[in-house]
Amino acid sequence: MIMSMDNFPDYGILTAKERQAMVETQLVPRGIKDPNVLSAFMEVPRECFVIEEYLKMAYDDCPLPIIENQTISQPYMVAVMTELLELSDEDLSAGVKILEIGTGAGYQAAILAHMGCKVASVERIGKVADFAIMNLKKLPYGNRVEVYVGDGTVGWPEEAPYDGIIVTAASPRIPTALIHQLKVGRKLVIPCGNLMIQQLMQVVKLQNDVKINRHTGCRFVPLIGKDGFQE
Ligand code: SAH
Repeated sequence: MIMSMDNFPDYGILTAKERQAMVETQLVPRGIKDPNVLSAFMEVPRECFVIEEYLKMAYDDCPLPIIENQTISQPYMVAVMTELLELSDEDLSAGVKILEIGTGAGYQAAILAHMGCKVASVERIGKVADFAIMNLKKLPYGNRVEVYVGDGTVGWPEEAPYDGIIVTAASPRIPTALIHQLKVGRKLVIPCGNLMIQQLMQVVKLQNDVKINRHTGCRFVPLIGKDGFQE
């Protein structure tokens, strides 16, 4: 059931059952375990991040089109990526700072903000950034997210270093600027590959090196920019 979008305090109450079903059928059986991630998915109203014609599909097990040919990612993919940042309870109560590249609808940023993170999120397309800002404004934790318009393949040096970086668009390689802007011991989560298919990678920054852990296959819209795909 879809609730009225106008009364802010009631956000998500009528859709709580749908969120619970999403967590129980899409996330837990596929191995998502982090209790902080699961409780964020139980509470962040995904219907605030989809366009009107897809409202009924807000909790479906798939990505959905938004505006400007972009997408809101599949819930499971958002959950895996969030879990791979490996944020501890201490990190969350301290309010660690996460960089997201590819704001899209703003749902991934809202999940991180709900968990307690401060989020700097970079979006290449101005209209998409405005859409995300409008969506995030509906939620009380939305003010923990700063949305910037720019080319995220070079990161966002103004607020570096970060306690985690998440790239939610397909990249041909690991952009070196992102490694520079990450704290030692922290993780960059990024889908790397070609335009058709990618592999999700968790890149751990070591003192003078990185360690790469490979995860699931996936398919994202392209990361377009200086250290990404060409326009
Ligand atoms: N995280 C989003 C989904 C992102 S879709 C969510 O939760 O809904 C990927 C987004 O990355 C698109 O909006 C696209 O415009 C953006 N993007 C592509 N290349 C980019 C770049 N170089 N810098 C910043 N954003 C980029």
